[in-house]
Amino acid sequence: MTSTSFHLSERALQEAAESSRLLPVEQADHLHSCGLCQGRVATYQQLFTVTAQLPPPAFAFDLTAAVLAQLPTTKPAFPWVVGWVTALVLGVVVAFLVLFGGLLAQAFQGLFTVLGAGLGVVAGVLVAAQCLELVAQHRRQMRLLDFS
Ligand SMILES: [Zn+2]
Repeated sequence: MTSTSFHLSERALQEAAESSRLLPVEQADHLHSCGLCQGRVATYQQLFTVTAQLPPPAFAFDLTAAVLAQLPTTKPAFPWVVGWVTALVLGVVVAFLVLFGGLLAQAFQGLFTVLGAGLGVVAGVLVAAQCLELVAQHRRQMRLLDFS
């Protein structure tokens, strides 16, 4: 294969400009014998040197403000509907215990701990529901993000 039958591809020229050791032996041999490819490699090396000395790009707009404008407005993280339901349930339970607690204590002395355990289960279910609502809300907000 003569040195003029083919020249290095643009990619190979750029790799050679980075380091000639990156080239396969056949292309490296061509580069040593071809003035045209050597000139192109030198041009790429100058281009890389100049590019490396350029200052970092400065945007004409405020990138931070543009990103923040895309973010959804933050709502209170606490799902208030669940909170109201919790307060209502607790109020009913407390009123029930105040009104009928004495009777219950007499009638279900042994079962009072069961009632307490039931309240604990209800509270656990409500907390779990709040956690699931928070996760669902977070996913909805993440889906709203659009940086196009
Ligand atoms: Zn060449």
